[in-house]
Amino acid sequence: MTELTDLEFDLEHIWHPYTSMTQPLPTFKVKKAYGAIIELEDGRQLIDGMSSWWCAIHGYNHPELNQAITDQLQNMSHIMFGGFTHDPAIELGKLLLKITPPSLDKIFYADSGSVAVEVALKMAVQYWSSKNGSAQGQTQKTNFVTPRSGYHGDTWNAMSVCDPVTGMHQIFGSSLPNRFFVPAPQVGFYDEWNQADIVELEQVLKNHHHTIAGLILEPIVQGAGGMRFYHPEYLRQAKLLCEKYHVLLIFDEIATGFGRTGKLFAWEHAQVEPDIMCIGKGLTGGYMTLSATLTTKHVAETISQGEAGVFMHGPTFMANPLACAVALKSTEVLLAQDWQANIQRIEKQLVQHLQPLSQLDYVQDVRVLGAIGVVELSFNVDMKTLQQQFVKRGIWIRPFGKLVYVMPPYVISEQELNTLLQQLVEVVEQMQEVSV
Ligand SMILES: *Cc1c(COP(=O)(O)O)cnc(C)c1O
Repeated sequence: MTELTDLEFDLEHIWHPYTSMTQPLPTFKVKKAYGAIIELEDGRQLIDGMSSWWCAIHGYNHPELNQAITDQLQNMSHIMFGGFTHDPAIELGKLLLKITPPSLDKIFYADSGSVAVEVALKMAVQYWSSKNGSAQGQTQKTNFVTPRSGYHGDTWNAMSVCDPVTGMHQIFGSSLPNRFFVPAPQVGFYDEWNQADIVELEQVLKNHHHTIAGLILEPIVQGAGGMRFYHPEYLRQAKLLCEKYHVLLIFDEIATGFGRTGKLFAWEHAQVEPDIMCIGKGLTGGYMTLSATLTTKHVAETISQGEAGVFMHGPTFMANPLACAVALKSTEVLLAQDWQANIQRIEKQLVQHLQPLSQLDYVQDVRVLGAIGVVELSFNVDMKTLQQQFVKRGIWIRPFGKLVYVMPPYVISEQELNTLLQQLVEVVEQMQEVSV
């Protein structure tokens, strides 16, 4: 028997995200990464347009982030959070409360974005089932409403509030809880507000609020469900409706947080504060997995007055000290620089390079917000072919569906971003209109 090469072993035995085990897409072996550069085993260097699924905001191998982890490692890499606490969790918490919506006051550290969403949903259900002031617990308020085209993660309940078409509802069928879906917001971020956009949400809340614990959505940018940018007024109206119909408002800022949309967090575009907010991805600068679910004093106190008397969740790796230490440093590094000006620089370059693509008849839309640039085609891309073309040209972009998009690390230089975008534009210009 001949021995498998490393890549053959990977192909044969290791699952990659959303990939067939019988017809896997090719993978590229990475040796190292630094700044905005990913270096492959064979020495080829790729300019990174993805920030490793939007989390490596300061690029790779950042000296200060490396140091923060190394320092923490000298003390402890992990300690159980039941009965113990530590500086990284406390210092990170202090900083997070300064930069998140003022009404948020309590922090639950979890281990991934999906888990943060699970935690948020559980908080909402426990909130309503608890005795709320003089009112009896409302144990029938256990369902959720959410706009279509959303994405909230891959675990069971997170999956149930993802878009029912692009999400996994077909496959998992009746094993998934049935949620209330309203149309995705149609009025774009830069368009004129139209009150019609919120009508269906009002209808659903009016008819079903007695069974609905919360409205969950990604503020301003719907990410993996379609890279759509919608109008801030949608959030203001949604907040009013949540108050009117007694439903908690949950913001999933896992993709939008830490400057990506041009604000530190996307709620600032609308100045609307949620009852519960999830953060993740960029939280650790992409170094380690960590997320947090924040909520108000009122929600936390109500939950604590419930039958259980406690919030029913506690992951093994809750508030992992290494992850908290690097998250603290990453957030400090972000805040210590003129990050707004930097995001504006990236935004300007994205507009300059991508906008002309809207002339092509197979390009349906080009949109840019902060450090997010999206080219929406009129057909689904062939990811395998396209990815190989990009790599050949020395850039790393992973398209999905009809979308070729970039979310570069903020440390990308003007020169690197120019090259990344020039190569992207050439590939899109040379595309044949083919349906896959
Ligand atoms: C990525 C993402 C999640 C899931 O985070 P994981 O860390 O992959 O579990 C949830 N919500 C949004 C908006 C995301 O972009």
